[in-house]
Amino acid sequence: MSLYPRLAAFLFGTDTSLRRMLTYWAATCVLYSACSALLLVQAGHGFSDRAAAHALIGYGGSIAAGFYLLIRFSSRIGLKPDQLAVLQAAFSLGCSLFLYAYSGPLRAATLVMTVVIIVFCMFAARPRQTMLLSLVALAGMGATMWWLALHDPARFPPAQEALSFGYLAAALLSTAVLSGEMHKLRSRLKRQRRELTEALDTIRVLATVDELTSLVNRRRMHEVLEAEERRQPSRRGTCIALLDIDFFKQVNDQFGHAAGDSVLRSFSQAARACLRGDDVLARWGGEEFLLLLPDASLDDARGVLERMAEQVHAMPVPGVEGRRISFSAGLATRNLGEPFAEAINRADKALYRAKESGRDRVVLA
Ligand code: GH3
Ligand code: MG
Ligand code: MG
Repeated sequence: MSLYPRLAAFLFGTDTSLRRMLTYWAATCVLYSACSALLLVQAGHGFSDRAAAHALIGYGGSIAAGFYLLIRFSSRIGLKPDQLAVLQAAFSLGCSLFLYAYSGPLRAATLVMTVVIIVFCMFAARPRQTMLLSLVALAGMGATMWWLALHDPARFPPAQEALSFGYLAAALLSTAVLSGEMHKLRSRLKRQRRELTEALDTIRVLATVDELTSLVNRRRMHEVLEAEERRQPSRRGTCIALLDIDFFKQVNDQFGHAAGDSVLRSFSQAARACLRGDDVLARWGGEEFLLLLPDASLDDARGVLERMAEQVHAMPVPGVEGRRISFSAGLATRNLGEPFAEAINRADKALYRAKESGRDRVVLA
């Protein structure tokens, strides 16, 4: 890994939710820096006490740095994102109280920051926590205004403070209500995304797996064969076989369609048990199956089909007691560079010969 991604992984971690939290933190730092700059200008113009402004900036900066560590290592400490958001908001609300108290004639403008802090909460805190924080902010700001109006009514006229408080209350409460609505919207989006993922998984299965036998379906098998054609030819060669259950119509006629389905399921299970990891058995149509044996000589493939025949003869089939099930197969090697369609064609002709010569056998193409 080069230096930059390594540094980014060290600073912001690799977990996406942690990265999102740290992005929010970085956004609050930008806001904090802008407020600090304004506060310095404010103090420069004599609207605020210079020493108090410096103290507030220093205090805010060190706590903000501390929050970086708290968020970065939150999983180790066991702090959840919503708890972190509430802590950060509580700290910022404390700062905004001081900012209000020391902003002199500009204090009403600083109330905007209180609302912005609550807006930040919407992204990580729960609606109930946001509402609670709004009430705490309101109570804190109300108490500060009341105390200021009581002790210094000349600079903080009670009527002016009361009106400021009214505006703040309206803004904070409506923000908290909006936060609830936004939470509902996000929950709905999350649920829809989960449902879409599940639907996509289902579609993927439906598009590739045969419902009755759980084997690969014909559509998927075409993709497998195309991929196999693009691969380097294997040393031992590749074989392909077409298998067809013998007298299957009679099974259906004698035992019923459901019993016929049972035969197809049992056959698939028994046949699959004889295969290696790379071999693919697909349901090619009705009671016909296509077997791909990559990296297998003709002898290997014949051995597999003979083992398969033994398994199929011996397999128990519910509802078809007393009837011996067998299959016929046409087996072909795929020549070097030959399209699979041609090898399948030859296997099909061999299958036809297997049927003609009495069934229950494997015929080479
Ligand atoms: P052969 O030995 O020559 O292959 O004779 P067969 O009776 O097996 O072949 P045929 O082509 O005459 O009949 C195949 C039957 O398979 C006809 C069709 O109704 C039945 N079939 C096809 N798909 C299904 C299925 O999904 N379930 C059931 N139960 N039967 C099916
Ligand atoms: Mg048949
Ligand atoms: Mg058939």
